[in-house]
Amino acid sequence: MTSIAWIGLGNMGSRMSSHLVSAGHEVKGYDVVEALRAGAAQHGVTAVDSIGEAVAGAEVVILSLPKGEHVRSVLADTDGVFDHAAPNTLILDTSTVDLDTSRWCHDEAEARGFRFVDSPVSGGTQGAEAGTLAFMLGGNDPDVADAKAIVTPMAGSVLAVGEATHGIAAKLVNNMMLGVSILAMSEGSQLAHQLGLDPKAFFDVARVSSGDSWAVRTWYPVPGVVPGAAANQNFDASFSAMLAHKDVTLAVAGAEAAGVKVPAATLIRDQLQRLLDEGFGGKDCTLVVREASPDGTV
Ligand code: NAD
Repeated sequence: MTSIAWIGLGNMGSRMSSHLVSAGHEVKGYDVVEALRAGAAQHGVTAVDSIGEAVAGAEVVILSLPKGEHVRSVLADTDGVFDHAAPNTLILDTSTVDLDTSRWCHDEAEARGFRFVDSPVSGGTQGAEAGTLAFMLGGNDPDVADAKAIVTPMAGSVLAVGEATHGIAAKLVNNMMLGVSILAMSEGSQLAHQLGLDPKAFFDVARVSSGDSWAVRTWYPVPGVVPGAAANQNFDASFSAMLAHKDVTLAVAGAEAAGVKVPAATLIRDQLQRLLDEGFGGKDCTLVVREASPDGTV
């Protein structure tokens, strides 16, 4: 049994932390939202009222936070993780953050005597619920080996991608590809509809044909086709437009810095930006299907 502090009990963190409890670990969880702390307590997490309480006595600290700015603040602000963690604590960041933040985390953690592994995940809330996420780990070999043992109960795959920040680099590229898949799926689902195809009949074709993708199989953006897809719940977020926009924006920035041309990623980034501008940032990212619809509605 390992004593684990979990910071950030949102859509992903609430589900992921429950697998660590089931695996027999002691998990103390904290989120700024009290209702989320209460929810986590229902699946065996010991809900606490501060980062300090969560981190006190923990051998491992795991973060699941929205953006790089939250990660930096949770780690380094007064009364944050760095103030309370014991020397040599292993810190895993499962959030999707920018490359600079990930580099900063590695450098700061090392300078202060902690161990850090960038540990982003893929697989959505469904993968988090099922304990089948893909983890992409970046860091020193011994730390990555320790991280692997910890994340395994939450994972379908645990991939040691390479050195510090390589996990998050792989994640950003992956999510850029997911964004482009969503763009293709949005246009395809709308065109199928306008051509008079039954949505389920077309889905059954696509998922066994060359139009298939993880997005199609998991997030098809038409109600009544894929169980668990946000389209069935009025596009309540499984993966919010805001977070998807963040990921694609970070990937496009990385591509621009590297001189790689990514016009399709730029297009889906702009479509997601329009959702944010229209006040739909908290809705699911698959609501971008509106962009392909003839009258802009779904
Ligand atoms: P979320 O917004 O539902 O959860 C983040 C949680 O962090 C929130 O509950 C928020 O209250 C909490 N938080 C923010 N600041 C905090 C602080 N200072 N102290 C404690 N808690 C704080 O987001 P999510 O969907 O769970 O995603 C979490 C991370 O995982 C993001 O970086 C996201 O990009 C990434 N991710 C999400 C998915 C997905 O499908 N949702 C998939 C893969 C990766």
